[in-house]
Amino acid sequence: MSLSHGQLASLRQHCSGEILSDPAQCLAYGYDNSKQQAMPDAVVLAEDTAGIAALATWCSHNKVPLTVRGAGTNTVGATVPLRGGVVLSLERMNRILEFSPENQYLRCQAGTRNGDVQARAEQAGLFWPPDPTSSGFSSVGGNLGCNAGGPRAVKYGTCRDNVLGLTAVTGDGRIIETGCRTTKGVVGYDLTRLLVGSEGSLAIITEATLLLRALAPARWSIRAAYATVEGAAQAVSAMMAQPVRPCALEFMDATAVRLVRENAGIALPAQTQALLLIDIDGDSARLAEDAAALQRSGARPDCLDWLVAEDPVRSKDLWQARKALSPCLRALAPQKINEDVVVPVSRLPELMQRLQAISERFALPIVNFGHAGNGNVHVNILADFSKPAEREAVAPCLDAVFDCVLELGGTLSGEHGVGLAKRDFVAREVSPDALDLMHQIKRVFDPAGILNPDKTLPSI
Ligand SMILES: Cc1cc2nc3c(=O)[nH]c(=O)nc-3n(C[C@H](O)[C@H](O)[C@H](O)COP(=O)(O)OP(=O)(O)OC[C@H]3O[C@@H](n4cnc5c(N)ncnc54)[C@H](O)[C@@H]3O)c2cc1C
Repeated sequence: MSLSHGQLASLRQHCSGEILSDPAQCLAYGYDNSKQQAMPDAVVLAEDTAGIAALATWCSHNKVPLTVRGAGTNTVGATVPLRGGVVLSLERMNRILEFSPENQYLRCQAGTRNGDVQARAEQAGLFWPPDPTSSGFSSVGGNLGCNAGGPRAVKYGTCRDNVLGLTAVTGDGRIIETGCRTTKGVVGYDLTRLLVGSEGSLAIITEATLLLRALAPARWSIRAAYATVEGAAQAVSAMMAQPVRPCALEFMDATAVRLVRENAGIALPAQTQALLLIDIDGDSARLAEDAAALQRSGARPDCLDWLVAEDPVRSKDLWQARKALSPCLRALAPQKINEDVVVPVSRLPELMQRLQAISERFALPIVNFGHAGNGNVHVNILADFSKPAEREAVAPCLDAVFDCVLELGGTLSGEHGVGLAKRDFVAREVSPDALDLMHQIKRVFDPAGILNPDKTLPSI
């Protein structure tokens, strides 16, 4: 759709905050990290909840699509305004409103950067568990919109596990408060956890009360090298079945290992086919015992190397293999289809075997790495679209990956979300009756269907 001059004038009359309509300025708000793009008719830089409520009321009344955006770092096209309309940016709503170390919570506006929350919490020896690698620039609203996680999720959970309450604006402009400020509370339905992960399709989160945790006094790192991918996957499953819970448990498969070895000069035992990067935190007096327990559970005949770092400098060295991976991947193939599937941890060995078979069947390299402690694997299908055979193989290859994940009892996305990219696959995982209820819920929150249309749920 395209806003007429009259509609733009009416928008300016009814809504507060700066309103951009110059295409040169709007362009920057039409794309995200999915590399998809569409042009908004206008961008509103909101300043408060009341202004957002007025905007939603206006958009609802005029049937104008309204797409809320944090920093636009999502990878699934979740902020691309496919039908034009208004993009709402919360970049100016970035204030920390209340910090209560004694009750371990922090209340902030939704445009606050994750990194700013962490910096403030750290001053009191606390942290907010969601730690996407984008934390330096991604926003709390965007983190909550996608239910973001990160390496720490294996021990401390994702956004959904670490939010106490929200202020939000529904699609028809109602301001609602959800949840409470305590760690227990069962009054009413749990709208907080419904809105988290809803990708701006049910309501616009304007403020959030985040649950903070105490920073552990000490943290050690471990790098374990395995001679087989299956061996490493079995070790993950064994580690997650014993009482010591790592605060990060990352996995890299054989291609990922080869890449960092060849391109980043990471020194590893010659036969290494898979790596595990593990962090443990807690009382320094206990960590040696915890590391030993993990080593016992991860011990296998094909474990080639088990290095432990007790200080931050050495720890950074061990994690270098994982940090070097993303830049190396870009060098391998021009196109990279990055999925973030999840399977129950005990099915990881089977997933790895089947991904290898899928890669061979479609003659496309697949590089796998990710948050294995949660069974969350970033499956990267690499292709060169200038070669027709590779271009055509991508869609059936992706289909095969998704089929395999669902057969193993998994889910299609662990943290990146659905957005546009996976919307058409949702019906493979969610039953028709459940989908029908979800569409009904959408209509209750957003009767005119203006909030982030075309995303998250397949159309009916
Ligand atoms: C280098 C890099 C590393 C990354 N690493 C990780 C990782 O480790 N783990 C991970 O989970 N993700 C990761 N991501 C993906 C992305 O950073 C996260 O999904 C992040 O949470 C998005 O935040 P954002 O502020 O950029 O949100 P956006 O991309 O702007 O928006 C994301 C979704 O949230 C909705 N939304 C935004 N603000 C609000 C609001 N106020 N109310 C309601 N809905 C809202 C949007 O409509 C959209 O659907 C990474 C991305 C990059 C580029």
